Amino acid sequence: MTGYDPLGLYWGDLHVHVREIRRERESSGLPGAAGPFSLEEVYAYGREVTGLDFVAVTDHDVSLCPDEWEATREAARRETVVGSFAAFLGYEWSHVAGQPSCGYGHRNVIYREFEGPLLSCGAEAYDTAPKLWQGLREQVALENAVVVPHHPGRAAGGISWNLDCWDPELERLVEIYSLWGSSEKPGPPFEIRYLAEHSPTGRGEAPGHFVQDALARGHRFGLIGGSESHDGRPGGPLWHGPHRCGEEICYRGGLQATYAASLDHDSLFDAFRARRCYATTGEKIRLAFSLNGALMGEELAGAERRRVTVEVAGTDALARVEVIRNNVEAHVVDPGSDTCRFEWEDLRPAEDADYYYVRVTQGDGHMAWSSPVWVG
Ligand SMILES: [Zn+2]
Ligand SMILES: [Zn+2]
Repeated sequence: MTGYDPLGLYWGDLHVHVREIRRERESSGLPGAAGPFSLEEVYAYGREVTGLDFVAVTDHDVSLCPDEWEATREAARRETVVGSFAAFLGYEWSHVAGQPSCGYGHRNVIYREFEGPLLSCGAEAYDTAPKLWQGLREQVALENAVVVPHHPGRAAGGISWNLDCWDPELERLVEIYSLWGSSEKPGPPFEIRYLAEHSPTGRGEAPGHFVQDALARGHRFGLIGGSESHDGRPGGPLWHGPHRCGEEICYRGGLQATYAASLDHDSLFDAFRARRCYATTGEKIRLAFSLNGALMGEELAGAERRRVTVEVAGTDALARVEVIRNNVEAHVVDPGSDTCRFEWEDLRPAEDADYYYVRVTQGDGHMAWSSPVWVG
């Protein structure tokens, strides 16, 4: 598709934990909870087993000692293979129970460079989201950091995304899907089920904290998938604690697709900042979407005529391909085959600020969500 043709499509996972499960494995007794546990093994799993082009290990800030952070930095540099695999430095800014860091929601911090500070929510200087953003501006610079709110619609323990707290310059991406399910909107498919007792809906979700809620408020961000692996398997976790992925509580881990000029840190990071990314539920579904030539993640000042172009190559028959305008299904195609390409012109009157994204559903239930294009 025009605009995407010069770019490569790369697959990755910017949400991987390894240290917590390593510490617990002796006591877990789960046969499937064994390894990979070293940083080298984790990156090798992403490269060789799940076939990923980029990975970030994002262990929780408060569980990382200085030596472990240093080891994470060294591993990202060492495990990067220029031209074929990019390891990004990152960590998860989470929360400490009963402390000011509660109530903002969890965020992954990803750096462009192999150097970067660990701004932990356990330190008073960074124990709120605005303090984290301020610290990143002072110590890293905007263009070298991306902050990714994740599982925004998950209720458990007050960790849902506080939509009053969003930084448009740093929070360029939001994780819409992980092994916890989909945070596009409440309910199925992929409804969030973990710790249902925390939710007023009886599932595991926090109504009013979902991606569609944030888009409706005018927040502008790209959409990605991540695994949230806690067993060191980027793009393909088997376990989360005692729960086997794909069964009652946890789904399969998600993936992040990224259109970048080439497979290197700068090109990929530029694409993250440009929101030229999309999410899948773990299958490598190929999706391209443009509006009047603007690629996913881009903004148009305004347009009377809106011509949408969509191309999809699924890994199974495509059951539905939907163009969503302002959270409403505006155009639906039922291809019935593995691939489809269509153009559609939205003839309805423009509103003040419109956003469009594409939702793909395969016959086997797997899904993909593009990042939006905004008009106005
Ligand atoms: Zn988290
Ligand atoms: Zn996490």
